[in-house]
Amino acid sequence: MRKNEMVKYVRWSLLAIFLVWITYAAYLHQVLGGGKAPSIHALCPFGGLESLYQVFTTGNFISKIFTGTMTLFIITLILTVLFRRSFCGLICPFGAIQEFFAKFRKKIFKRTLIMPRIVDNPLRYVKYAVLIVTVLYAWKTAGLWMAPYDPWSAYGHLSEGLESVWKESAVGMMILLITVLGSLLYDRFFCKYLCPMGAFYGILGKLSAFKVVRNEQACVHCGKCSKSCPMNIDVQHSLKVTSAECINCQTCVLTCPKPAALDSKAGNYIVKPMVQIALVMVVFFGSIAVSQAGGFYSLTPSQGMTTEALDYNEVKGYMSIEEAAQLTNTDLQEFYQKFNIPENVPSGTKMKEISHLIQDFDFDAVKESFSKQ
Ligand code: SF4
Ligand code: SF4
Repeated sequence: MRKNEMVKYVRWSLLAIFLVWITYAAYLHQVLGGGKAPSIHALCPFGGLESLYQVFTTGNFISKIFTGTMTLFIITLILTVLFRRSFCGLICPFGAIQEFFAKFRKKIFKRTLIMPRIVDNPLRYVKYAVLIVTVLYAWKTAGLWMAPYDPWSAYGHLSEGLESVWKESAVGMMILLITVLGSLLYDRFFCKYLCPMGAFYGILGKLSAFKVVRNEQACVHCGKCSKSCPMNIDVQHSLKVTSAECINCQTCVLTCPKPAALDSKAGNYIVKPMVQIALVMVVFFGSIAVSQAGGFYSLTPSQGMTTEALDYNEVKGYMSIEEAAQLTNTDLQEFYQKFNIPENVPSGTKMKEISHLIQDFDFDAVKESFSKQ
């Protein structure tokens, strides 16, 4: 196998590992509850940005967000300033899902569709609007208001069963479906048009010294770099890729057939793709290890700073009784009383499953009664 092909496989393998790990973590959260296993929200660095205003004004995080989420957010900021959107190109599990569906499409249909420029150009701005609305409204409401519409959240709850996810977040489920179908037609569909986090990292990544640089003298204008770019950047006609869309995947550099025609550079220094992958991993895991040692990596409610309490009508069916009590900042015994749960129901029972043990318990009706108060 050629060396460049091997580096591509290293990147895909990393994306696959992060995807499998996050899927397992989401499953564990469903099985063990939020007190023992972090939720998909706690593991997403975007929660740090959504919590920022609350942290500055009250010293607390919004619900479901903990010190570890903020630490992950800060680590990804450092990564972006150093290596542009390497988080998107190497780590993000949602980016991985899109790439694997795109691979499936290329294997079966052997082609890549490109959105017509007249549609593509305006659509690229949608993610900036999503970023502004999501963050400002999260700051205003001090909560993850976006969760029911979030395809990432829907994905994280899939192990609960489609019916349950549909009930809790139908819109998120539909956007997840659109993302999957979109990825079967276009590369990185969600990243290009919808992801608020990618929009944020794209702007911040402009500060990075890392750029893909083309050497006009060595270039033979074969166009393979532009054709291989999942974000459809016109690498072939750029001397330096400065676009906020670049996810620093290095695919163009690895696909270029002419030595020294296309390189990744930090200032005047060439940094080989494999070295860059290694540096990103060292910074990412090294920072996590340091923050863990320093006690700044709590991802569950049992540790770290306090979080804003959920209202009782925000309790979800997939939460265990214990987790719901913690997230509403209610003493466990008091929570049993508030929700009329008999004491013999174990605290690890999911809210929606209490009716399996106590026939006349109606979770939706109890929740509804809190909405009316
Ligand atoms: S743009 Fe968003 S979904 Fe895509 S890789 Fe980046 S963070 Fe992940
Ligand atoms: S320009 Fe190159 S590094 Fe940037 S997204 Fe396209 S293929 Fe990846």
